[in-house]
Amino acid sequence: MARKRVYVAYTGGTVGMRGNPGARAPAPGYLTERIRELPELGADEMPEVTVRAYDPLLDSANMAPENWLEIARDLQARYDDHDGFVVLHGTDTMAYTASALPFMLEGLAKPVVITGSQIPLCEVRNDARENLIAALLIAGNHAIPEVTVLFGNRLMRGCRTKKIDASGLDAFASPNFPPLAVLGSRIDVRRDRVREIPAETKLTVHEVGGPVVGALRLFPGMTPRFLENALSAPIQGLVLETFGVGNGPARNADFLRVLREATDRGVVVVGTTQCWRGEVDFESYATGQALGEAGVTGGGDMTAEAALAKLHYLLGRKLEPAQVRHEVRRNLVGELTPSATDAPILPSEGLRDAEGRVVAGP
Ligand code: ASP
Repeated sequence: MARKRVYVAYTGGTVGMRGNPGARAPAPGYLTERIRELPELGADEMPEVTVRAYDPLLDSANMAPENWLEIARDLQARYDDHDGFVVLHGTDTMAYTASALPFMLEGLAKPVVITGSQIPLCEVRNDARENLIAALLIAGNHAIPEVTVLFGNRLMRGCRTKKIDASGLDAFASPNFPPLAVLGSRIDVRRDRVREIPAETKLTVHEVGGPVVGALRLFPGMTPRFLENALSAPIQGLVLETFGVGNGPARNADFLRVLREATDRGVVVVGTTQCWRGEVDFESYATGQALGEAGVTGGGDMTAEAALAKLHYLLGRKLEPAQVRHEVRRNLVGELTPSATDAPILPSEGLRDAEGRVVAGP
């Protein structure tokens, strides 16, 4: 049987860096050469591998939505000639890229496995080799038509992941959705959790990078002025990481007024939880209900990373704010649990369009 073909997009990150800790930097040419020399590539079950190193190779702390778009377009250009894809990526913003690509790659019917490492491949003891080999095996041999993150022996849905450890090797988690596969003595894929191949399998890339989107984590003592600055023009969408199940300082009338004025202007404010796990439910407390009434849209159990990516995607499609708010609450690519938004989390005054007209609910 002909070998499967896997394309490796090497974008940068620790995995291919050289140098002593403290002065590590991506080294052009180095990782591509090391991958070609890997003895494991000769094994029968390994795919045929093509590596392309990006120029420049980036520490992922330097990445922005333009880089997500570069990756998406690159995968699209290689799509027909390959059976699967591995994206080698820095860990710092991997969860953001892994959250954005599922929205951007509509019609994806082949595996895209994003991985990297905490210790570079050039070190004697490293997690790079293991992650890379496992990612190649999955991309080549398993029909998982999703963007996933492979790290620490787990394959997770990309748009559910978070980086949870700054230096430990088990650096990623998917707090609100179980892993798609666990890599023990064998690769145990949980088919019931994997998304189906879409009906329309022509790969379309949706652009991101145009809209002005931000994220803000609530903290005790945040002043209305601080919030007002974050919500000032030209912002179009804001992920507001709220306390617990979606609560905020509702006794502060100015704080709520600033929120209301921004949402009335058409800024889409999505409430996520700043807890590691769980979902937003504005109906649980008066302090949450007040945010809903101020026009904040509940983000269910989406991570803040996924909510940010989703805002980029939806606002990039030039939808009206009311449509964006509607879509935020729907599960589009596996980024949220539908039951988490089935609860009545429409603002009690209903959803408003840019002119302040109520267009849905309560
Ligand atoms: N700063 C690095 C990056 O995100 C960290 C890593 O790759 O682990 O590119």
